[in-house]
Amino acid sequence: MTYKNTREFAQQLDSEDQLKHYREEFLFPQVNGKQVIYFTGNSLGLQPKRAKKYVDEVMNDWANLAVEGHFYAEKPWWDYQERFAKPLSKIVGALPAEVTVMNTLTVNLHLMMVSFYRPTAKRYKIICESKAFPSDQYMIQSQVHFHGLDPKEAIVEIERRPGEHNIRLEDVLAKINAIGDELALVLIGGVNYYTGQVFDMKTITKAGHDAGAYVGWDLAHAAGNIKLELHDWDVDFAAWCSYKYMNSGPGNASGLFVHEKHHHNPDLPRFAGWWGHNKERRFKMEPKFDPVHGAEGWQISNLPILSLAPYLASVDMFDEIGMDKLIEKRDKITAYLEFILHEIDKEVASTFEIITPENKEERASQLSVFLHGEGRSLFDYLMKNGVITDWREPNVIRLAPVPLYCSFEDMYEFGQILKKGITG
Ligand SMILES: *Cc1c(COP(=O)(O)O)cnc(C)c1O
Repeated sequence: MTYKNTREFAQQLDSEDQLKHYREEFLFPQVNGKQVIYFTGNSLGLQPKRAKKYVDEVMNDWANLAVEGHFYAEKPWWDYQERFAKPLSKIVGALPAEVTVMNTLTVNLHLMMVSFYRPTAKRYKIICESKAFPSDQYMIQSQVHFHGLDPKEAIVEIERRPGEHNIRLEDVLAKINAIGDELALVLIGGVNYYTGQVFDMKTITKAGHDAGAYVGWDLAHAAGNIKLELHDWDVDFAAWCSYKYMNSGPGNASGLFVHEKHHHNPDLPRFAGWWGHNKERRFKMEPKFDPVHGAEGWQISNLPILSLAPYLASVDMFDEIGMDKLIEKRDKITAYLEFILHEIDKEVASTFEIITPENKEERASQLSVFLHGEGRSLFDYLMKNGVITDWREPNVIRLAPVPLYCSFEDMYEFGQILKKGITG
């Protein structure tokens, strides 16, 4: 398709958009009395209007039923998390028993490392990406330290080549091969938070397994954004937060995936709690832990129903749409944004560069723009003029044209504001 940098063309794309009415399902902040152009759904997704209904339902059940709500609420609380299994499993490409919701992301990754990082004298190394999201770096370092090992020895980071912004698949595979039988775990972000690069999870997972290691993924920027086939890719474990592309609300609960092949392994150690115990016998208050055979066997505490409520509202919305339709629009709107950026770049004589891979297989709903000339002043200009984006040191603006609620006209309008911000 040949794109045009005109309002009419953008409006035409909007009129053909099958998901266009979902924009009405979200609450947008306003700047200068106008609805913003929201590019930070990769950081905190907008509030779906239906979230309030789900939360109100819990509040009302709590008021009217109190403790009886555990069993007699509209959606009983004692097994509330089970409502997620089916729709979430479709979002991440898993069996329903392989997914659950609990805790928050970094906490779940720690819990997964309890089960899947058990270093021995020979096999103790972890491969991760260089410049991973800081929480992942701290998490991995602290786990290594916890086992009495030296992070400098045990953690191997995959570097970018000089002058390149993205990590090459061949470099990941080469590193896995080189470490071979010293490799205990591969743990990488499926979509890099800074550049938006999507990793080839299938190939990397296989390479990790061939080396005899476990392979886990942090899917913070992947869940609800890209097509995942966690079961078929044979991924050992994964976790994701729900407040980014999944619009569940600030700091909200994490999703967890544990592959079926690990559900019946009594040798896997884990940190246990009563919510992971055999469901039929949970309230018998027995002394011996008998884990649920499934991701729920890693549950610890009874669940924060008030925070799961908006997450469930969002998961239901994803289930209505399906990932395929979402991805179809994602690719179209991302390509249109890329086109707009290139057009404006030509008009203002090249002051910025897109560092996200051009290759469609290696990117999803984010374009990261490296500013050569302008700096924070341009970012401030955008924010003041109703473009909500974010700034990452040293000089990057991240743009996520989230397909659920961004419009093609937003992309056009953004281009006009950007141009004014650069040319003054
Ligand atoms: C957003 C994000 C996190 C945040 O972790 P929390 O435990 O939810 O605070 C962690 N890792 C990555 C890669 C992220 O993008």
